[in-house]
Amino acid sequence: MCGYFNDSLLTPLTEQDLRSQFEHAMQHYQNEPLVKLFTSGSFLDPSEIPTPVQHHILTTLKDTTEKISVESRPEYITEKNVQTIQKKIPLEKLEVGIGLETSNDLVREKAINKGFTFQQYKKAASLLKKHKISVKTYLLLKPPFLTEKESLDDCLKTAKDTASFTDVLSLNPTNVQRHTVVEYLWNRGQYRPPWLWSVVEFLKHSKSLTKAFVKCDVVGGGSSRGAHNCGTCDKQVLQAIQEFSLTQNKEVFTGLSCRCTEQWRDQLDLESLSFGSLVDFQRWNP
Ligand SMILES: [Zn+2]
Repeated sequence: MCGYFNDSLLTPLTEQDLRSQFEHAMQHYQNEPLVKLFTSGSFLDPSEIPTPVQHHILTTLKDTTEKISVESRPEYITEKNVQTIQKKIPLEKLEVGIGLETSNDLVREKAINKGFTFQQYKKAASLLKKHKISVKTYLLLKPPFLTEKESLDDCLKTAKDTASFTDVLSLNPTNVQRHTVVEYLWNRGQYRPPWLWSVVEFLKHSKSLTKAFVKCDVVGGGSSRGAHNCGTCDKQVLQAIQEFSLTQNKEVFTGLSCRCTEQWRDQLDLESLSFGSLVDFQRWNP
């Protein structure tokens, strides 16, 4: 499902390229207290961001920020890396996001092809916690090969399984990127991006499973390639999702309903019985 390779260069970036990119972005920086460094990879991986560049970025932002948010795979979250960062910034200023996607190793290995285990995540998250570094965990809603119901249940279980490890849970609904397996399945009518109702259902129930701050930023929401409902209610539902992500107040979902709610419920009930033939009946019978 991941389309990052579409935007990646085949020639590696130099240290100087990364420094220039950072300086360019910093021209727009006005001492905002929260800075997110979105590397689409692992900030702590020295082959992606060389250690001197990591340190340069952190040192530059040290005095003006309250929180610096980066992302990393668990294998780069090591005692050694944390120790070197500690020399540059107070560790409580740091937040590290990990793309766990699911606590289920089978789903992560076979449907997502991620290449690390839940055990590795737990070890990395514990190490971060030990050093008072905030932990953010990304969950993936609806990887390929799972039904809507299977994926919703999987995300809810993951919220519970990660409760003692993470400070923030961020739900990422799958969207259809170019040249991916998901696009191949979607073109054949064998994949539908998740319903926004599934996102709402997850957000509503998550607060009883975890104390983490739960949020969801729906990329491409309301479009046929992104998480969507029937087209009529999408805007309103997306607004409620955004509001919940800021306030954590599930009352924002009260009274939200649409004719398509029943269709979504039917999909949850019937998809597993239909052996994949009810993936997206809306698309074939508009
Ligand atoms: Zn609707």
